Amino acid sequence: MDAITHKNPPEPEAAPGHEASRELALALARRLRELRTQRGWSLQQAADACGVSKAMLGQIERAESSPTVALLWRIAGGFACPLGDLLPAPTPTGAPERPEVRSAARMRARPASDAMLVSPLFRFDPDLGFELLELTLLPGYQRVSEPHARGVVEHVLVLRGRLELLCEGAWRELGEGEGLRLAGDREHGYRNPGEQPVVLLDLIHYPRARDAAPAG
Ligand code: MN
Repeated sequence: MDAITHKNPPEPEAAPGHEASRELALALARRLRELRTQRGWSLQQAADACGVSKAMLGQIERAESSPTVALLWRIAGGFACPLGDLLPAPTPTGAPERPEVRSAARMRARPASDAMLVSPLFRFDPDLGFELLELTLLPGYQRVSEPHARGVVEHVLVLRGRLELLCEGAWRELGEGEGLRLAGDREHGYRNPGEQPVVLLDLIHYPRARDAAPAG
């Protein structure tokens, strides 16, 4: 196991939108404005809640820049909403009484400028309190995540490749079919040291709103 390093590789917080598609940037811009309007927040209030600069948030709302997934997480934390809420919904979530086959391959998209593809397989369900994401980490990807809202728990299961997961201060190696449950409200991280993409499922459980507090 490598020495513990909590540093992310240098990476711009936002890059011009050529990496993520224009369509995704526009959908994110629309969604952000919608969330901000729902809360009656000014750009400054939203920026303060998310811990990002007003200029940066403004650029994202105008679809002028494409944030990293880490920045999306920070914004989701500020708005106290699941990550999936910031991503466009290609199809509605199938209710159990209306079964619908989901295709991770069809939903997979690069929502941000960093080397992670996200497939929001099952969007946040407020009654059940979880969302299920398929994540693809491209070779060399490394991200130490800021803690999510209090009480958030992640269940990570590797589908393909070899993942290294930072959990309780140590990087642990997970092979195909191996999973780990971790406290999302503490520092944690994901990296792909290999040369092939790593594909994993991340089932994220959010406690009831009355117990949860934005990570800040
Ligand atoms: Mn996380």
